[in-house]
Amino acid sequence: MTLEITRRTLIGGLGAAALAAPAILHGQMLFNAYPFRLGVASGDPTPDGFVLWTRLAPDPLADGGGVPMAPIGVDWAVASDPGFKAVVQKGTAIARPELAHSVHVEVTGLLPDRPYWYRFMVGRDRTLLGRTRTLPLPGANVRALKFAVAGCQNYEDGLFTAFRHMAAEDVDFVFHYGDYIYEDRWRPKDPGHDGRPRPTVRPHIGDKPFSTDDYRRRYAQYKLDGDLQAAHAAAPWWTTFDDHEVEDNWVGLEDKYDTPAAVFRLRRAAAFQAWYEHSPVRAGMIPGPTGIAMHRRARYGTLLDAHFLDTRQYRTNQPCDDDFKPDCPAVTDPKAQVLGTEQEAWLARSLGGKRARWNCLAQQVMMMRLDRRTGDTVVPIRNMDSWAGYMTPRERLLERCRGLGNVVVLTGDEHQNFAGELATAKGETVAVEFVGTSISAGGDGGDVRRDAAEVRSHNPQLKFSNDQRGYLICSVTPDRWETRFRVMDRVTVAGEVSTRAVATVEHGVAGVVMG
Ligand code: FE
Ligand code: CA
Repeated sequence: MTLEITRRTLIGGLGAAALAAPAILHGQMLFNAYPFRLGVASGDPTPDGFVLWTRLAPDPLADGGGVPMAPIGVDWAVASDPGFKAVVQKGTAIARPELAHSVHVEVTGLLPDRPYWYRFMVGRDRTLLGRTRTLPLPGANVRALKFAVAGCQNYEDGLFTAFRHMAAEDVDFVFHYGDYIYEDRWRPKDPGHDGRPRPTVRPHIGDKPFSTDDYRRRYAQYKLDGDLQAAHAAAPWWTTFDDHEVEDNWVGLEDKYDTPAAVFRLRRAAAFQAWYEHSPVRAGMIPGPTGIAMHRRARYGTLLDAHFLDTRQYRTNQPCDDDFKPDCPAVTDPKAQVLGTEQEAWLARSLGGKRARWNCLAQQVMMMRLDRRTGDTVVPIRNMDSWAGYMTPRERLLERCRGLGNVVVLTGDEHQNFAGELATAKGETVAVEFVGTSISAGGDGGDVRRDAAEVRSHNPQLKFSNDQRGYLICSVTPDRWETRFRVMDRVTVAGEVSTRAVATVEHGVAGVVMG
């Protein structure tokens, strides 16, 4: 009876429309603390816009972030000057509880190839200014481009000071190769590569994540870091994901614990949702029943086509039961996939079009087939979670690169810096690969690992290695590609950055020169 009266009263008082959609809350008094504690971000630029991101979270580590469970209006504005005098676009976005009150504004109608500044507001609370940038027009004669390559930010292993330094580099964009979070719980650390125990600089909060709320809390812990926030506020990001956004070395619907695919799919979906909620990416990347449509392309005029690849979702299981192993027959499985047929065809069409001066394959796992053997081992040892475990699709891709003389592969995952060359099975060098180290994963490190000279002796294609933390800065002109390896002296304390090495590639020559 009471229920009937309540329903009638509601329908009479608010009308059917009010029942169909919950009221959107606006303005003051919604929060008992500053709601923008996770900062701002921008990404996925087009010639006339970009995505602007923030998330309302006055209490970021609490369930629900300390936000009322209702849609909330968030005002945003874009200006063409850092003084924020000339506002060129503004609007109100809805932060929805379904998406942890994150906001993804897809701004359009702006001018190409220039910086813009932006901020968000709710009531009297406003964010700091972020700086971002539109893409050049696809036919623009771009003469120079500068961008950063970063990823693998293990919160426990070190501070994110490298991101603070990266924010000061004045780049056109950042490519993030994944491992934005690490999913493990706090644990006493394994010994590092120098044999000494790795200290836990800052412990993870909470156990290993499985639910969406678990992953949200992990992202919140990471995104509270001011150095990471500074890097987001400084430039647009092209964000991808690797394994640790979900679970160490997952591929497709398989984890390393033999969890049934139908069960692992649930965990992956929870992780993907939290990834979307905390990434400055478009609504087209909201996870669907089959996953996230993550691979995409950016055209920096006629200078550079950047192909952001997905080497996890469509890959077949690692051969030889994964890990660092001698080759087993499955390494040459003709049916093995890394990109999957659809993504591979999408990439091949673009490479075959010979459109841009440079082609950049921005991806996650190493394409160089390194022999990792050390000591008394007499057979080659491979990283089965890299392209070296997938010889058939690897060879197909390298054949696509043959004759282009303009392919540069950018990679993460290894927690070491590498520069080297990629050759087909016939021995023809067709591309260059730069592997970026990590922001913090692996801890302080040192110039080279103990086994570096041995690894170099087995791998003539490898021209440079280094085991410090940091990021890459790529400066690209029509005739020359320069990659600077920016390394941190320490990450267990706030460290300094310096250039450890400079690598150059001349256009038309698939080879790397170290300087
Ligand atoms: Fe990593
Ligand atoms: Ca990884």
